[in-house]
Amino acid sequence: MKNIPSIQRTTTQPKDLAALRQAFEGWSNTPDPLTRLTRRLSTTLSLETQLGILAEELRGTIPFDALNYRHQLGHRDFVFATGMGGPHRCEYRLNLEGICYGTLTLNRRQKFSDEELQGIEMFISAAVCPLRNACQFIAIEQAALTDSLTSIPNKRALDEHLQRASLLSDRHDEEYSLILCDLDHFKSVNDQHGHVVGDHVLRMTAEALGSAIRNSDSVYRFGGEEFAILLPHTGEQEARDVAERVRSTVADLNVDCGGTSLSVTISCGVATHLPEEGASQWIARADEALYRAKDHGRNCTRVFASIG
Ligand code: GH3
Ligand code: MG
Ligand code: MG
Repeated sequence: MKNIPSIQRTTTQPKDLAALRQAFEGWSNTPDPLTRLTRRLSTTLSLETQLGILAEELRGTIPFDALNYRHQLGHRDFVFATGMGGPHRCEYRLNLEGICYGTLTLNRRQKFSDEELQGIEMFISAAVCPLRNACQFIAIEQAALTDSLTSIPNKRALDEHLQRASLLSDRHDEEYSLILCDLDHFKSVNDQHGHVVGDHVLRMTAEALGSAIRNSDSVYRFGGEEFAILLPHTGEQEARDVAERVRSTVADLNVDCGGTSLSVTISCGVATHLPEEGASQWIARADEALYRAKDHGRNCTRVFASIG
């Protein structure tokens, strides 16, 4: 027999329900801007959407020419701006329990009066908790997409970006390439020097890969000792050149392990996105090219040629 959870319902007096219904009507159609602000802010965890709502509700009560918000969220400098200029400004650091959740600046052509400043502060006080939640949500999202050892984007981030790249590549007929890099004989690094040194080598390799690519390219930790590099607007030949540059940067690396220095090499597999190709097929082709590089003796690059 199934266990069906029972809900104990307490009966509500019709009089109470009518009062509740009236309160609900008042709450959902309130002309009070602060109640409306908090109600609207509670509908989203997007910081950008929340700031848009705050700007809209604030503007309805206290006119301003520009609203700017700035906050350093992990590696990302989050900026929201609406409107233009005005020489007079007021600036607020959004602090809650000793933690800063960004800086909000309002600009206007006319000076803000004391009453207006008090009004702005009330709006900010009502908004600061939802804004804190939105900031924390971004931090959690960032953590879920970041590899904790190397602090670079992880496989989950790569999967998302590859799917988007596949779509964009098909829609706009643009070339995207993928490089998979795998450290050679890394097991013996761990065996000879221990896991702590192995971890250090992984961090240094991630850093070296990041330094060898352009700003528009991104490097990911694909798995244990494997990395991936996504190259937008890059065809096969150019991707091969990048892979070779990356490979020689890692080979030139001298990792300091407390007195002794250690060097490592990587093998690279390159695949340029094919029309209508899904992310997993694309990865599989780069992996196949990487396998060939390993088979060829390691510390080299192989391309999964799209033609011939
Ligand atoms: P190949 O050249 O064929 O790639 O040889 P390999 O030794 O690099 O490959 P193998 O797959 O045999 O071993 C991978 C090693 O990577 C074994 C594993 O312990 C190590 N590894 C994976 N993730 C980590 C990590 O986070 N930290 C450390 N220290 N080692 C790791
Ligand atoms: Mg491997
Ligand atoms: Mg390896």
